[in-house]
Amino acid sequence: MEGIADNLKKKLFNEKQIGWENLKDDCINDIMEFSKGYMSFLNKAKTEREFVAEAIKLARENGFKDLMEYASLNPGDKVYFVNREKSLYLAVIGKENIADKGVHIIGSHVDSPRLDLKPNPLYEDTGFAFMKTHYYGGIKKYQWTTIPLSIHGVLVKANGEKITINIGENENDPIFTITDLLPHLADEQMKKKLSEGVNGEDLNILVGSIPFETEEKISEKVKLNILNILNQKYGIVEADLMSSELEIVPQFKARSLGFDCSMVAAYGQDDKVCAYTSLKALMEIDNPNNTAICILSDKEEIGSMGNTGMESHAFDFFVSEILNKLGINKPNLLDRVFCFSKMLSSDVDAGYDPLYAYVSDKYNAGFLGKGISLNKYTGARGKSGASDANAEYVAWVRNMLEENNIKYQVAELGKVDIGGGGTIAYIIANKGADVIDCGVPVLSMHAPYEVTSKYDIYSAYRAYKTFWLK
Ligand code: MN
Ligand code: MN
Repeated sequence: MEGIADNLKKKLFNEKQIGWENLKDDCINDIMEFSKGYMSFLNKAKTEREFVAEAIKLARENGFKDLMEYASLNPGDKVYFVNREKSLYLAVIGKENIADKGVHIIGSHVDSPRLDLKPNPLYEDTGFAFMKTHYYGGIKKYQWTTIPLSIHGVLVKANGEKITINIGENENDPIFTITDLLPHLADEQMKKKLSEGVNGEDLNILVGSIPFETEEKISEKVKLNILNILNQKYGIVEADLMSSELEIVPQFKARSLGFDCSMVAAYGQDDKVCAYTSLKALMEIDNPNNTAICILSDKEEIGSMGNTGMESHAFDFFVSEILNKLGINKPNLLDRVFCFSKMLSSDVDAGYDPLYAYVSDKYNAGFLGKGISLNKYTGARGKSGASDANAEYVAWVRNMLEENNIKYQVAELGKVDIGGGGTIAYIIANKGADVIDCGVPVLSMHAPYEVTSKYDIYSAYRAYKTFWLK
């Protein structure tokens, strides 16, 4: 029985319900179907280069053309710009004047924590061939031993010939792994701090053990055999590894998680979950009022530096080229456009994990299954380095979500002074746009296998679509 106080509580309290409760069957069906598409995309796109390639394919199927193919632009046109195969910017030109209304940006990143091969990776030691790696992004090193790994990336010969490599994903492919010590002999290791149990320098993948067949007395026959295999398969020599970008990623496939199949377990969901949901939403935007821009950036996990990272001016060039091709560009217009723009920085949030509850303030944490998670600010130690969204803008986003019945929560990344993090939010905010972090809560973030809720994935897709249609 509902009393007066109960009703008053419902009216006054900010209580977020689990999204799955009281959902209609067709709604559950939509959520499950959407996640199927997401999981199959993830299996094809484990690295930034693969994600960008798949995104271009999808965009072209949906009427997008390379910005350079257009001499001039008009409302309704759909364009993209590929930045060195590793980041991608897409836009649907709106009806409103960009100079007055700015643009509506959703920005995510398509790089994920992993192990990169060193420039001189291959060596032989006591009958084994190994490849040395340098980890990329924030990882807990012990998580990357004794799991199946695959190799993805490109190798460019000095003559410019580019070879794309993907070994380990196909059922008939071999996989690779990093060994760990047996518990019987691990007394010393087990007494170390967790962060020191596995050395970064020892994250070497095991790649072979058969010596090259010969009567001659030569050294490094196992290494020779591996190089011979690579030479026969790809026509490469050891020196070609110096000009390569080969990434070691978990071989795991994306799968439904739980008896109820309510969650997704997969590698690289930070931040491909936000990249995929925003990309899918953009594919369904036709003739928007405001110009819709989707950023899929690279190098977020190592600070967004370099010409494919968000700090690069390549994005400014993209927007400038749009202004040029609309025939409205003039000095300082780009600054004006950014100052009138709005952005959702679509990156994952740390989901509340009951097993590690002590790191979260449960009143200000993002929960799996309660919808998209807004972070007004990130940063660490007194909001340091944070892009703190303005209250006016948070209200604008709230209103948009509430009007469209999209479940959301406003959260922080962990308890005060316990850690922190950042996204690409500050980079676009520094240009003058209103920005808030707005993404999917994740468990086991940066681990080889990350967990999200299918409810939140679908909420993100709906939120992003609504933002661009506003
Ligand atoms: Mn991220
Ligand atoms: Mn991350």
